Amino acid sequence: MESVKRNVLLNPGPSTTTDSVKYAQVVPDICPREKEFASLMKGLREDLVRVVHGDLEKYTSVLFCGSGTLNIDVCLNSLLPANKKILVINNGAYSTRATEICQYYGLPYIELKYPVDERPDLSEVLETLQKNADIAVVYTTHNETGTGILNPIREIGALAHRYGAIFITDTTSTYAMRPIDIEKDNIDFLMASAQKGLMAFTGLSFVVGNRDVIEASKDYPKHSYYCNLFLQYDYFEKTGEMHFTPPVQTIYATLQALKEYWAEGEQAKWARHTRVFNAINKGLDELGFKQVIKPEWRAGLVSSAIYPDDPNWSFEKVHDYCYERGFTIYPGKISTTNTFRLCALGAIDEQDIEDFFNVFKEALAVCGVKTPVKYND
Ligand SMILES: *Cc1c(COP(=O)(O)O)cnc(C)c1O
Repeated sequence: MESVKRNVLLNPGPSTTTDSVKYAQVVPDICPREKEFASLMKGLREDLVRVVHGDLEKYTSVLFCGSGTLNIDVCLNSLLPANKKILVINNGAYSTRATEICQYYGLPYIELKYPVDERPDLSEVLETLQKNADIAVVYTTHNETGTGILNPIREIGALAHRYGAIFITDTTSTYAMRPIDIEKDNIDFLMASAQKGLMAFTGLSFVVGNRDVIEASKDYPKHSYYCNLFLQYDYFEKTGEMHFTPPVQTIYATLQALKEYWAEGEQAKWARHTRVFNAINKGLDELGFKQVIKPEWRAGLVSSAIYPDDPNWSFEKVHDYCYERGFTIYPGKISTTNTFRLCALGAIDEQDIEDFFNVFKEALAVCGVKTPVKYND
């Protein structure tokens, strides 16, 4: 196996992959309607439930061809019973995306909005559920990837269940990284895509959720054809296949990525991501960079650093310098503050972060940015 140039991606996905996962895509051509392929997908669907410790009787996974946002779309447009409302708990860009999806489909929703650097107020969530008996779905994002803040999903899920609502959470940037237990965390539906925690490629997205709720949603109002959860689930159950053409090569890569996931182990993988995250924070702290999210609220995967007040600072120049040397850094996703992000996803370890900071420091020196960096306030 020839090795491919290795880039260290510090953006929030797609993530750095192993060569064995890259090469797993190179397979003999196959028609995905063959039994051989359907049997691969059966194992894959079960493994995706096992990653979050789901009981295979109670939970199932449904695969789609598309990027991660497709899952948000699918869950919201498919799981709302008639004459009911969605409660979106929003403290970041990804939950905002959920409210936009509600708007596009004309789904009735209530939004509890919080600043991007604050956690939701659970007493307000409780009060909203008490006052609105028609809330059937509670929705939030686990790790708001735009900033890296961790939301208290277990507590939110418990509140949802106490008031008879289902709980959907976007775990795209935690799944297969930060350990999740779908049952203990009070989750009915979670989601992810192959290019983030699993360290495979874009094109395969999936929802893991409660089978009974999916079956019940058969009779809910339909808003999309391609993106309906029940339709896709039902087709899988009847035929073992995706309703429409699956991302064949990405599925082969994801199967290899899952093998590597089990070999590394949930705890060891999380320990590695934590090592990488700590190294990122140490590097930023040493250079004087301030971050948006206070340490105790960070999900442990995304660092969101604030641009320094130095006339020579240029994200583009620093980015380009690092990019040319194999390290990709990423702009922030906050409208009010200029930030950039360094993420602990992917097949990388501490040494990569040390190597990165050597290059990053050179980039700052070349630009003439003084370190430790300064802020005016
Ligand atoms: C990456 C990500 C998504 C999906 O984004 P795509 O660009 O559609 O792949 C959704 N939610 C969260 C929290 C994410 O981090």
